[in-house]
Amino acid sequence: MHNIQPDSKSDISALLDIVAKMRSAHKTGLLSARPPILVGASKGQDAGLLRRFIGAGLTRFGENRVQEAIAKWPALRAAHPEVTLHLIGALQSNKVSEAVAQFDVIETVDREKIAVALDKEMKRQGRFPRCFIQVNIGKEPQKAGVMPEQLAAFITFCRQQTALPIVGLMCVPPADAPPAPYFGLMYALAKANGLEELSMGMSADYETAIAFGATQVRIGTALFGARG
Ligand SMILES: *Cc1c(COP(=O)(O)O)cnc(C)c1O
Repeated sequence: MHNIQPDSKSDISALLDIVAKMRSAHKTGLLSARPPILVGASKGQDAGLLRRFIGAGLTRFGENRVQEAIAKWPALRAAHPEVTLHLIGALQSNKVSEAVAQFDVIETVDREKIAVALDKEMKRQGRFPRCFIQVNIGKEPQKAGVMPEQLAAFITFCRQQTALPIVGLMCVPPADAPPAPYFGLMYALAKANGLEELSMGMSADYETAIAFGATQVRIGTALFGARG
């Protein structure tokens, strides 16, 4: 991680710019009920840069690898207890215990085996991070997530067989197609299943996601610059 980092002035202007764009997308969008939350996708960004953003008022961050989060965040969190940490990448069974201990929100619940393992570990630790179900909204073979047609059954499974606090849905739409139809479908799926939260929208498409009811967006490069 030796990327050339912008100074703190440009950090703050990137943050202000995104917050302003989020606000106007929320104002003009028809579906979003409440102002969306910004989660800084901080994978590949080092602690010094993250400390500056925390200083500028950003408190939510998303990491996509448990190992990287464990290397980076405990010291930062000890100094900044206001930070909320989201897991936004795939979760393997052998990392469930560390994930439950380290994260406040787990956005990538996507199969029964991992739901059962999380349930067991949360009960053991007495710690219940809020959970999102990841949906493979474009039905892409290389991507994680529950298929849309299997979502209702998976939600029922989680609600009946586990104590996971399922609060919403998360997706990463196909990279090579306009995202709006996928965001619209996600909105409908969340409504149909009685879920309030929608985690969707990244650097390239967060304003569209907000117009379609995203309650949180996960932004990396537009906020922090290129990853190291
Ligand atoms: C990296 C990442 C993001 C942010 O991507 P950018 O295009 O850099 O904004 C969002 N969501 C997930 C799951 C990611 O892994």
